[in-house]
Amino acid sequence: MSGGGVATTGARLLLRRLRSLMAEGGSAEKRLQQIVRAIAADMVAEVCSAYVMRPGEVLELFATEGLKAESVHRTRLRVGEGLVGDIASHARPLALADAQAHPNFAYRPETGEEIYKSLMGVPILRGGRVIGVLVVQNRMPRNYNEEEVEALETIAMVLAELVASGDLVPRSETRPTEGIGLLPTRLEGLALCPGLAIGRAVLHKPRPTLADIVAENPASERERLHVALAGLSRSLDDLLARDDFASGGEPRDILEAYRMFAQDRGWRERLNEAIAGGLTAEGAVLKVQNDAKARMAQVVDPYLRERLADLDHMADRLLRHLTGGAVATALPEKTVLIARNLGPAELLEFERKRLRAVVLEEGSASSHVAIVARALDLPVLGRVDGALTRIEAGDRLIVDADNGQLFVRPSDDIEDKVQESMALKARRRATFADERTLPSVSRDGVSISLSINAGLLIDMQHLEPSGAEGVGLYRTEIAFMVRDSFPDVGQQTEFYRRVYDQAGDRPVVFRTLDVGGDKVLPYWPREGEENPALGWRALRIGLDLPNLMRQQLRALIAAAANRPLRIMFPMIATADEFGAARGLVDLELSRARQRRQHLPAKLELGAMLEVPSLLWQLPELLGQADFISVGSNDLAQFLFASDRGNPRLAGRYDSLSPAMLRLIAQLVARCAEAGRPISVCGEMAGRPLEAMALLGLGLYRLSMAPSAIGPVKTMLRSLNIGQLQSYLSQRIAQGHGGLRRDLLAFAKDHDVVL
Ligand code: PEP
Ligand code: MG
Repeated sequence: MSGGGVATTGARLLLRRLRSLMAEGGSAEKRLQQIVRAIAADMVAEVCSAYVMRPGEVLELFATEGLKAESVHRTRLRVGEGLVGDIASHARPLALADAQAHPNFAYRPETGEEIYKSLMGVPILRGGRVIGVLVVQNRMPRNYNEEEVEALETIAMVLAELVASGDLVPRSETRPTEGIGLLPTRLEGLALCPGLAIGRAVLHKPRPTLADIVAENPASERERLHVALAGLSRSLDDLLARDDFASGGEPRDILEAYRMFAQDRGWRERLNEAIAGGLTAEGAVLKVQNDAKARMAQVVDPYLRERLADLDHMADRLLRHLTGGAVATALPEKTVLIARNLGPAELLEFERKRLRAVVLEEGSASSHVAIVARALDLPVLGRVDGALTRIEAGDRLIVDADNGQLFVRPSDDIEDKVQESMALKARRRATFADERTLPSVSRDGVSISLSINAGLLIDMQHLEPSGAEGVGLYRTEIAFMVRDSFPDVGQQTEFYRRVYDQAGDRPVVFRTLDVGGDKVLPYWPREGEENPALGWRALRIGLDLPNLMRQQLRALIAAAANRPLRIMFPMIATADEFGAARGLVDLELSRARQRRQHLPAKLELGAMLEVPSLLWQLPELLGQADFISVGSNDLAQFLFASDRGNPRLAGRYDSLSPAMLRLIAQLVARCAEAGRPISVCGEMAGRPLEAMALLGLGLYRLSMAPSAIGPVKTMLRSLNIGQLQSYLSQRIAQGHGGLRRDLLAFAKDHDVVL
């Protein structure tokens, strides 16, 4: 027997032949038949058969060269039955010189296979699941060697694409059914950014297509793999050195394990072998990943399972390096993006108009990706367990982020209902648009200032249509976060000028760079910090690196030229810090004066109130600050000692609790005494019920995501603030439990539109 017929070059030639066969027209079954014929010829086997998994865990013979033609579609074996069933149940190859001696051998008379002595079979795997079995048989006893088994596995990988294409059996049959089957399913999550959307799933994880699997030139594939592995190791080293993975949710030991895998000789060898067998670097990663996943299903030891799961993530990362990180940033229309997690910068890489919603396995409401999503008015559902494995690319999805739920492959009646409520929402939005020009005045005549939060130039386009007064918080760091290097003074000046141009006569409050915590600048190496949220961030960096801060102030002063300049500083913990920041502004003003530049028409410097320690330094602070802006996201984080980015804590402490409300009430009173304006620019201000509570506490300046202006304005125009104030002051004084329910009851009793 010519056992060496499958030298690697031969396998490569066969792979190429298979690829062209697959690309040919005609029915999928006919193509499959040609493919098994080509395999049999190439492998010098009398028989080659392909079995495909059908519903009910049955392997059905779909094509054969050598067995009787009439057995096609008739021969069906349960998983576990016979040698083919054995291969499927263990998801591992078998190579037997004397197949009939194997205890699992099951003879099927209709096939006429009794004359074939030897058998080699491999599972057809996709996404780690068995979707079929590929078998060759020989009449004479034959010892198949390892290389041949490898080659057949590689061929099976290519076949997997044909089986999963939907042309052979309905696509639904080859999808993962884990836990949810193929029926319409409802998954739960946490609403990170409200909204309703219908679209199709795009998985934010790399998955090369067939065209990327079969290689033309193994030497260049080896080189690509080498470069990608080096890039992978480097990125892991950087991550480990930066030590900021704690906030990214990837504990150190996983990264350490990743790094070990990246350098693992065995892994590299397996990848190189797969390339030698005719696969591209991507194809090789997929193959090795598939094998590991299939093994994972068999492993019960939790430690080993974890290691295999690491290997799986690792393979994903390596694929990302191979595809240059371009993980489907070009999206089809009406995309619902499914990801484990996304950074704010990553989210911004996608084209907004094609995105309908985002579904994350992780995430929390006050994380920055949620804030960016709000700026983009993009529904985001977070903490959907196993979203990436339970949703298939192309699945039809309804994201109901308002109610924290996700419908996968919804039935028509659900879709109809959702369409109805989307239409209703659109009508409500139209009402908001109609009300845009109406004054922002409560029912009892109190005038309220509503502004938008912005961080991108596209946000500025919402100013006019939202009817907002101005920009109450311009998060300057967002522009820094989406670049790949630190912008110089000229670039910053240009950027702020454009903000001014877009704002026209409306006021803009620029917040100085607020990085650190969960806001990472990709080009800025960070030191290891145990508690990044409490670490070297925001104004602390600005004061420690005054040149950096002065550059920003210089750019702001230059951009303002003859227009009013309003600046506020984030994360102030002591009144002295505010004084120091003010000092830097003075230095830059004198510099501008000396150079005879145009100066701002007016200068106002504000303090963000985000750190509770400031509450006991109000006299000193209010003596120096022109205004106060409450950053309720961070204030709540530090008040309750509760990480705003930790999904486990999301919703644990209510901003409508007596602690928070009393604090704000006192703050409002102190600011009124000192004659200093106070506003709120955290997420609280944009939620109608919370905004109502703030008005009830006497806080009349609110800054929020542009999409929140309409609902908040409708709420306040239906509210009698005087009535609410007397109600609320009583309830706060009594002070037990949260006040959310009381406030909802008040709104209901007094016809406040929430
Ligand atoms: C806040 O903390 O409430 C705030 C407005 O700032 P950021 O969310 O950008 O930290
Ligand atoms: Mg903040």
